[in-house]
Amino acid sequence: MNNPLLDFTGLPRFAEIRPEHVAPAIEHLLAEARAVLKSTDAAPATWDQFVEPLEDANERLSRAWGQVSHLHAVMDAPPLREAYNANLPKVTRYWTELGQDTARFEKYRVLAASPEYSRLSAARRRIAGLRLTDFRLSGAELPAEVKPRYAAIQEELASLSAKFSENVLDATNAFLLFIDEKRISGIPQDVLAAARESAVKDGKPGWKFTLHMPSYWPAMQYADDRALRETLYRESATRASEFGKPDWDNTPLIARALELRREAARLLGYASYAAVSLVPKMADTPAQVLAFLRDLARRARPFAERDAAELRQFARAELGLETLEAWDLAYASEKLRKSRFDFSDHEVKQYFPETQVLWGMFRLVQDLYQIRISQATASTWQEDVRFFEVRGGDNALIGQFYVDLYARETKRGGAWMDDAIGRRRREAAIQTPVAHLNCNFPRPVGDRPALFTHDDVITLFHEFGHGLHHLLTRAEDLGVSGINGVEWDAVELPSQFMENFCWEWSVLERMTRHVDSGAPLPRALFDRMRAAKNFQSGLAMLRQIEFALFDMRLHSDFEPGAGGSARELLDEVRREVAVLVPPAWNRFPNSFSHIFAGGYAAGYYSYKWAEVLSADAYSLFEETGVLDAETGGRFRDQILAVGGTRPAADSFRAFRGREPRVDALLRHSGMIPP
Ligand code: ZN
Repeated sequence: MNNPLLDFTGLPRFAEIRPEHVAPAIEHLLAEARAVLKSTDAAPATWDQFVEPLEDANERLSRAWGQVSHLHAVMDAPPLREAYNANLPKVTRYWTELGQDTARFEKYRVLAASPEYSRLSAARRRIAGLRLTDFRLSGAELPAEVKPRYAAIQEELASLSAKFSENVLDATNAFLLFIDEKRISGIPQDVLAAARESAVKDGKPGWKFTLHMPSYWPAMQYADDRALRETLYRESATRASEFGKPDWDNTPLIARALELRREAARLLGYASYAAVSLVPKMADTPAQVLAFLRDLARRARPFAERDAAELRQFARAELGLETLEAWDLAYASEKLRKSRFDFSDHEVKQYFPETQVLWGMFRLVQDLYQIRISQATASTWQEDVRFFEVRGGDNALIGQFYVDLYARETKRGGAWMDDAIGRRRREAAIQTPVAHLNCNFPRPVGDRPALFTHDDVITLFHEFGHGLHHLLTRAEDLGVSGINGVEWDAVELPSQFMENFCWEWSVLERMTRHVDSGAPLPRALFDRMRAAKNFQSGLAMLRQIEFALFDMRLHSDFEPGAGGSARELLDEVRREVAVLVPPAWNRFPNSFSHIFAGGYAAGYYSYKWAEVLSADAYSLFEETGVLDAETGGRFRDQILAVGGTRPAADSFRAFRGREPRVDALLRHSGMIPP
């Protein structure tokens, strides 16, 4: 086997993969998959003869391409990037064709109507059902004369979405501000150093500020110069609107996208785009989501009002700000936070050295899920990547995972979990799952271990939660194994669930150790961290609800083209739920990329929806003891192990013994009903 990308006998041979392996492997696998498609055309519509052969071919393609994408994300160098970009369109084209393959859709329908169907396992019936839904939602069932129109809508929507984000980016990049010494007061040294460096790069004197978050946000939080904050806020809040360059105005794009989404939904036989968006999700109807959001808004409101009143009073008394303008909020909040909870990330970090954190986290899940984690070896892309095995009580291998913790120039930002191999049955044997955990934490300096902030620790727990969902699955078919087939609005349950343990004294007590003195985290510092956790949580929750409500109404009860605009709808939503109302010239929708250029249209509510589930699931641990192995076993069996083999609502009910309730989320957010 001289092309490592074509070796599927075991773990990926990362260290041997070269850019020149990519094209031959991908072309070979695409040809193989297309040949299987052709040969299954005439095959009977049974699982073994029609579904399985293509699943196998697709798995090989996904695994090989997954290795290339992974390397592109973590070791991005020009030759590999070139190979990636050259092959990406071929792979994308294949998946698009497959999604629109009506002959295959017909065959799935025949399978679903055949006597064999009832003899399939529940997991396989669910896979067939999910595939049929995918086909239907991509227009496979439409009459032949309607299909071209449907395809044209999808194409136009794709280009609108691309143009929307280009406009936001261009408008963001167009604004630069160079300030002199008189205006820098309050801004922290590290921010100023970066601002100075970028001014020097441009050959300018002074400090350069932009609308990109790492520059914009600290200026809004710390700059004492109120006029500076106002300028930055105004520029940011009016990006890609009628107040800027007409070519970059997203207003007409928003109107057009809403019209097209509505038309596509009608063609599929649904009342609204929101109704279509919810078909593969856990939530059932737009009305259910609206009621959920409004209920949460009603409960959060008194706390948001309290937060706002407190902030106003502090701003008046301590900062001399008689009115609290939109550009004062981050600034006043930061000052208030500092006056209330005076501890620094730096202080907390000393108690979270890497090894302590990693093995503390492993020990927690070992106890909860009755597994053993041990270090092992594998071929990797970087010398400091580590590899671990998960084994059961009987010492049988359950899964393996790579941990790539440190930031590198060649690594994509953020933190994420990815799957390398999915669990499935192969003849008599089980193919065990393999996962990637990727973070961007600071690497060790000198001979001191890497130190993590508490936020870093939460991020690590979050991604490990996704990882455990992938690794502890017991599903035997790829289509529903791990996170495959799990509804979009439920997939963050296991990850957000894990975050809760980072706020638990019994967990932190045994996973912290001062890097020099060896002492555990002092209880008093922990108490201050907990108190700061819910600082302004009422305001934060209402803000998320405002966005989610706007998104859901925009795609359900709003009638595009009937005179009203998206902006007017947002004003209405704000009158309903907002406590702090932005200025009338704020054009937030024009840069709301989540719903106009991302996958979140009629789906923004998912953040809060999944948080209710994860908080409520965790509350059972609070009732039985957070380290209770029996509850852990139940979580493993009913949530993690089942993956996508059944609807998430069923899994939740099986674990919790009842429907989800919002109480735990409110309590965790410091919003206990009075
Ligand atoms: Zn996540």
